[in-house]
Amino acid sequence: MAQRVALSEAAAGSKRTSRVRVAVRLRPYMDKQDEKGEGPCVRGLGPQNLEIINWRNATETLHYQFDAFHGEQTSQQEVFVSSVKPILPHILNGQNASVFAYGPTGAGKTHTMLGSQEQPGIIPRAVKEVFNLVAAQEEEQDSWQYSVGMSYLEIYNEKVLDLLSSGSQDLPIREDKDRNILIPGLTDTPLSSFSDFDRHFIPASLKRTTASTKLNQRSSRSHAVLLVKVLKSQRRPPHRQQTGKLYLVDLAGSEDNRRTGNQGIRLKESGAINLSLFTLSKVVDALNAGAGGRVPYRDSKLTRLLQDSLGGSAHSVMITNIAPEYSYYFDTFTALNFAAKSKQIVNRPFVRETVLAPAIVPGKRGRDEQEAGGSGE
Ligand code: ADP
Ligand code: MG
Repeated sequence: MAQRVALSEAAAGSKRTSRVRVAVRLRPYMDKQDEKGEGPCVRGLGPQNLEIINWRNATETLHYQFDAFHGEQTSQQEVFVSSVKPILPHILNGQNASVFAYGPTGAGKTHTMLGSQEQPGIIPRAVKEVFNLVAAQEEEQDSWQYSVGMSYLEIYNEKVLDLLSSGSQDLPIREDKDRNILIPGLTDTPLSSFSDFDRHFIPASLKRTTASTKLNQRSSRSHAVLLVKVLKSQRRPPHRQQTGKLYLVDLAGSEDNRRTGNQGIRLKESGAINLSLFTLSKVVDALNAGAGGRVPYRDSKLTRLLQDSLGGSAHSVMITNIAPEYSYYFDTFTALNFAAKSKQIVNRPFVRETVLAPAIVPGKRGRDEQEAGGSGE
């Protein structure tokens, strides 16, 4: 028995590919997204579960389970603390990490990653935390020094474009002898503080959004990739160095993925627009299916770029954003099927409630039962 344990550990160690943690975030219901006034078609059932009405049979709901479920009321801070903060210390130890927002356009990816001035999202919180961690390290020890840098790029139509340099051409993705992925020519801006980051990131991010309205919703069809690099250098000989990379990615809308993924002809038609998103789904599937299978990193620009920061020894989190309105039903359904660890059909009609009503607490007795019980408590 002890032998078997040792064996399986060795096997796991030889091709250790870590799973991608999958969280789902449901954004609040918005009246204006629901012209027919149908109410929500999906709701949370706890910290890992949700249910969605089964369109094939309205007397059933579909239950899904994830690594984490964040309901409508979840704050930006809660999402950050549960899904992102725990992986950040690894960046200071030469390890890589990636965080993605996945889901249909309008479901909250940009809100989750970027947020607003009043409700900052994962990007500003993570960058702040990286600077906090660096400051704490420099306080604690003096054998290593740290430097932080950023790059910001967009993948559109399988082209890699530098968002920190104007007039950028498609940049090549290369791999060095140690299997690190790099992009020669990509702007790498040194940062000494969070306000430094803001100063470079905000204009680039605004430029991307403004350009997109002119270019046919380009921002919903492209992947915005922020890279935060932490270089750790030994102050004394042998002056070892380690680099940790953190990718923060606001993905293209997954509604394109559904069309290209399901229909052979469309896949050809829409060409490269969503090859990266489609391949990312396959890569995450392959990683989460576990040992053995080929992971098709090389099949798209996004996955090739992320090869050293997704799976393997990297720490990865996918936050699937979904919207509760019926108008999103099929996009939600597709996104959930991609994200889910498990799904179960439950024979229970989806009870229509007003939006503000609390979710039914499992195990709580109904009013009839309570009256029949005649408890005097
Ligand atoms: P996406 O980037 O996926 O297309 P957005 O982040 O732009 O979606 O979100 C669409 C709209 O919904 C925006 O107006 C955004 O502010 C709002 N929104 C998204 N998620 C939330 C949330 N959790 N709480 C409040 N508003 C949200
Ligand atoms: Mg967006």
